[in-house]
Amino acid sequence: MKKIYLYGNWKMNMNREETEKFYKDFGGQVAGDPALLAAMGKTLEVAVFPPFTSLAAAEGASKNLDKRTVPFLGAQNVYFEPKGAFTGEISIPMLKDFGCAHVILGHSERRTIFGEPDELIAGKVKAVLDAALVPVFCYGETLAEREGDKTFDVVSRQLRAALSGRTPGEAEKIVYAYEPVWAIGTGKSATSNEAQEVCAYSKKLIRELAGSAAMPVVVLYGGSVKPDNAKELLSMEAIDGALVGGASLKADSFLQIYKAYANN
Ligand code: PEP
Repeated sequence: MKKIYLYGNWKMNMNREETEKFYKDFGGQVAGDPALLAAMGKTLEVAVFPPFTSLAAAEGASKNLDKRTVPFLGAQNVYFEPKGAFTGEISIPMLKDFGCAHVILGHSERRTIFGEPDELIAGKVKAVLDAALVPVFCYGETLAEREGDKTFDVVSRQLRAALSGRTPGEAEKIVYAYEPVWAIGTGKSATSNEAQEVCAYSKKLIRELAGSAAMPVVVLYGGSVKPDNAKELLSMEAIDGALVGGASLKADSFLQIYKAYANN
């Protein structure tokens, strides 16, 4: 049975009121579907990643939902120190305080706009694992790198950096998200074959780096996933789910992506 992961990265969007509305519309709609999915031999894990300022609203709104339908709650970033003089940063204990189970790390917007290097991201991956949260580690090439035939070099460098010093047990707990930078927020998704090729390569490399050929590895694809392309992308053998940006902001379109799998 293939388990599918559907994660929504809200980026710097969604205030408290919009967050509460999303939970009402999305949570209410999916109620009952876990049983339907199980009957169809499918399992699904849904998570949303609001901005820090809406985590409390998301946590509060979850309390009104049937427990089986509450999405996991995650954050979009974190700093690895537990507390102290780090103005503007948020710690892992603070995220735990809101019930966060997942943290996105290494998103291309953090890498390019905020200059986060591989080593800093690797330190965050370690700290999140140490705290028993799930790192959602993002990686992927720019358009210039793809056109320069550098995709596999870049992906390899980013994965090696994140996994340096990690045990096989730790490598297995990470959710990997291949997100080609040229596909993020552009409306131009990778084709299902392009995404499959890099996700399959990633799985092989992760297993090699961990020294465990049979290790389960979860790799998501992200980059302009929409209701009309989700079904095909999610049907690819090496793709375990989707990290969705723009199309996760409205309960409607996120639900359509959910149903693309549920009805597949
Ligand atoms: C993302 O932000 O991780 C993302 C994939 O965005 P979008 O779906 O809007 O391309």
